[in-house]
Formats: sequence, structure tokens, C-alpha cells
Amino acid sequence: MTAIKKTLTDSFGREHTYLRISLTEKCNLRCTYCMPEHGIPLTPKSHLMSADEVFEIAKIFVEKGVSKIRLTGGEPLVRKDFLDILKRLASLNVQLALTSNAVIIDRFVDDLKVYQVNDLNISLDSLQPEKFHHITKRNQFKKVHENLLMLIKEGFRVKVNVVLMKGFNEDEIVDFINLSQKYPISIRFIEFMPFDGNKWDKSKMVSYKEIMNVVRESFGENEVERLLDAQNDTAKNYKISGYKGSFGIISSVTNPFCDTCNRIRLTADGKLKNCLFSATESHLLPQLRVGKSIEAIIEKEVKSKFKVRGGMNSLEKLENPDLHSKNRSMISIGG
Ligand code: SAM
Ligand code: SF4
Repeated sequence: MTAIKKTLTDSFGREHTYLRISLTEKCNLRCTYCMPEHGIPLTPKSHLMSADEVFEIAKIFVEKGVSKIRLTGGEPLVRKDFLDILKRLASLNVQLALTSNAVIIDRFVDDLKVYQVNDLNISLDSLQPEKFHHITKRNQFKKVHENLLMLIKEGFRVKVNVVLMKGFNEDEIVDFINLSQKYPISIRFIEFMPFDGNKWDKSKMVSYKEIMNVVRESFGENEVERLLDAQNDTAKNYKISGYKGSFGIISSVTNPFCDTCNRIRLTADGKLKNCLFSATESHLLPQLRVGKSIEAIIEKEVKSKFKVRGGMNSLEKLENPDLHSKNRSMISIGG
């Protein structure tokens, strides 16, 4: 007889079935909205989860009803034992997904297929090489662009994550959407969000409303179709009539999607975050490493989740650096 799984439910009735694991705080790019200008202090290896610990913790979550795991980072693919971790997580029979900057993803294509990692979120903020270099501080546009096209050709379900910034790439909204004319991909425009050290300023953010104004003006009101969003989707999805793919907007700043949130996050140093914006975390490793159960810690962390954005339930609160800088830098959360 199979045991009935008790899903991790918070005090607002939201069931947490989606675990996002950050495998590393390291990255081969330096996106200015993510990585603080002077980097972040490197966590000693002994404080990071080993491959065994990632698996052990993930297994407990699966026993508690998690059915989807996304691997993220930093850049998850720079972790030397990435394949070892992937292989073991695949034995848990959950839906596996990956968020990557695609710089070295070509080395992993066969393994991603073997372990059925079909859902790939690829980050690309500009279709212009110089701008790509400006935002990532690295000269990798050609590689990322080639890899993106290769992944589409290989049949992966690809979403392209684009963080829009005023005066930087807002003029590329139409170019990005036009990629979905030929390719069956989803372009996801993300509102620039505040995290520790990323010099966030509301005036740099391109809002959901502004994006839709550009879209309607450029393509014509009648050509823009609203799509049915998947359950727990963070994006509001649209397509241009006749295009193969679609586009969506993730409006965490101006229009958060917390009501249907089913996500919980595990950081590379083994801390549990019940929200992308939460200032507090629960450390799992001390208990795990002395062989004690971590279930009660997990349950408590889920139960203490705020209704909206880690307690920053208004734009005023989110804008307040005293509040949002209590959180980590995005590079060490993983998105
Ligand atoms: N390195 C991988 C990548 O770039 O796809 C995975 C980690 S990255 C932190 C995950 C996602 O977070 C990326 O799509 C990135 O664009 C997004 N992101 C990082 N900082 C952000 C910010 N301040 N606001 C909105 N999205 C952000
Ligand atoms: Fe690295 Fe991804 Fe952050 Fe860019 S967004 S610095 S690729 S972790």
C-alpha cells in the first residue's frame, strides 16, 4: 500500500509542491541586476550542501508532496557534480526543470534528455552582443544565442527570461516577441526586482502596464491574444495571432502572483526560504548533519510564510531599502 502524502500547506491554504534548489552561488556571468558590483563573499565549501545532502533533502520534500524540482543557481551548470546530482534527483520521479544562462548548456544536452529535463528557462536580456556584454560583463552572446537556437531545435520546452530595464533593453520588447513568430518558445518579460546589492530603483523598472502598452501599440490591439495561464503560473501569458510561440509578463513588483504560490526555495548553503522576498530563513544542515529529522523545520518554515512577498505587501514596503536589503542578493537565491 502506498502512503498518502501530506502536502506542505501554509496558513493560507497554499500547497507547496514545487521546490527550487540553488546548487551554487557561483556564476560564469555577472548580470548587474543579480550579482552585486563587488561580488558576494564566497561561502566555504563545507557550509554548502554536498550532492548527498541535496538528494537527501530533496527526497524528504518529495515524500512531503513535492512533484516538481527546478535546479538553479548562480549558474547550476558550473557545479562540478551537476550530473551526479541530476542523476540522483531523476530517481525521485518528479518533474525536473532547469534555469540556466545557457553559456555551457551545449555540454549537457544529451544528459538533459536522458534525465528528462524538458523544461528549460534560459536567461537572455538582449539580442544585441554589445548590450549583452554590458549587462553580463562577459563576452558570451554568440555562445548563448547559438545554444538557445540549438535547444529549440532539439525539442526542449524553452522559456526565455528577459529582465527589462529602462533605457537599456525596453526597446527590444518587440524584437523578443518576434522570436516567438518563428519559434515555439515563450518569452517572459520580468519586472526588475529589488534584492540586496542590486541598486534597484523603481525608475529603472519597466512595468507590466508599460510593456503591454508597447505591445498593443506595436502589434495592434486585435492581434494580441490573452492565453489561459497554467495553474500556479507566475506569468500572465499572451500571444500574437498566428505566431508559433507566446510571451508572458512576470509582474512581481506591480502585480504580485502570491495567491497561487506553490514554491519553496532551498539555497546552496542549505537554508530554506519560504518566499523569494523573505528576510528570514531556516537552516537545515546543522540538524541534517547530526542525523536529526528536519521535517519539523520544513513544516514550520512553510507555516510561517507571509500572504504576500515576504510581508512586503505594498509597493511602498517593497521600495523601502531597509526592508528589501534584509534579503539576500539574487545570485544566492536563484530566482
Ligand atoms: N544563472 C541562471 C540564469 O541566469 O538563468 C539561474 C539563476 S538566475 C538568479 C535566475 C533568474 O533570476 C534569471 O532569469 C534572472 O534573469 C533572474 N533575475 C536575477 N536578478 C533579478 C532581478 N533583480 N529582478 C528580476 N529577475 C532577476
Ligand atoms: Fe549569473 Fe543568472 Fe545571476 Fe546572471 S542572472 S549573474 S547568469 S545567476
